Amino acid sequence: MSLHGAYDPDNIFAKILRGEIPSVKVWEDDDVLAFMDVFPQSEGHVLVVSKTSQARNLLEIEPEVLTKLTVAVQRTARAVEKALKPDGLSLMQFNGEAGGQTVFHLHFHIIPRWGDRAMKGHGHAPMAEAEQLQALAARIAAELD
Ligand code: 5GP
Repeated sequence: MSLHGAYDPDNIFAKILRGEIPSVKVWEDDDVLAFMDVFPQSEGHVLVVSKTSQARNLLEIEPEVLTKLTVAVQRTARAVEKALKPDGLSLMQFNGEAGGQTVFHLHFHIIPRWGDRAMKGHGHAPMAEAEQLQALAARIAAELD
């Protein structure tokens, strides 16, 4: 999948947004959804997506939608920091297959980092238990401002 092309309405995140496949939600409003990555690269790995845009990547997204999305990323990252007390946070965002992207609905990764724990590789992490993700999502949601 190159940087250019049509949005696939049946991509995984579109199905999650339509409620066709389950996800562990942290929070949402009319514009954005924050949910747990089911293959977390570290404990507390959250994804943030727009609910209104069909942008596949950063190059395509409408600036006003990007503004809401990045504010949502910051709000979520602050809650992750308060809930999980990581030593650092990695924000990741991949564009195009050659850029490492695997789901072609624009999203930001929020990945907590600890100095004494290695982060798992992108696309190389095992699936997490739903109960663990639900517990983490509840802890993060409890710290939202
Ligand atoms: P990308 O490679 O496009 O930047 O990131 C896609 C992310 O979506 C990956 O981190 C992957 O673990 C995550 N992912 C893939 N399938 C699912 C799914 O069905 N549910 C959730 N919650 N995350 C998924």
